Amino acid sequence: MPYKNKEDRIKWHKNYRDTTEYRRDQAISKRKKIAAMKLEVFTHYGNKCAHCGFSDIRALQMDHIDGNGMKDRKENGMGCSHMRYSKVLKDRTLLEKFQLLCANCNWIKRAENKEHKALKYT
Ligand SMILES: [Zn+2]
Repeated sequence: MPYKNKEDRIKWHKNYRDTTEYRRDQAISKRKKIAAMKLEVFTHYGNKCAHCGFSDIRALQMDHIDGNGMKDRKENGMGCSHMRYSKVLKDRTLLEKFQLLCANCNWIKRAENKEHKALKYT
């Protein structure tokens, strides 16, 4: 912050917020916050797939145990994963609605339960 004068300082901040560096820093900060929330949520579930034990968190996904994910995303605003992490960390009783599955087990579960509309008529 280069200015001691309040008005110049405010003007400098307004200009700074329009810069690419500011937006990049904000995006990095947001990604770090989301990664920390993801790690905290996944740690609750033991950082492994509840079905097969796969433990690479890059391929682990939160799965609605009851299979009503689409309805939950629409009605409760859990559309994006970071929103889901935020909500379950604020209200930890929501953690019981989910389990951690690897991508393979999650898709196999969807197919077996015909949860995905493309799989309903197969
Ligand atoms: Zn699995």
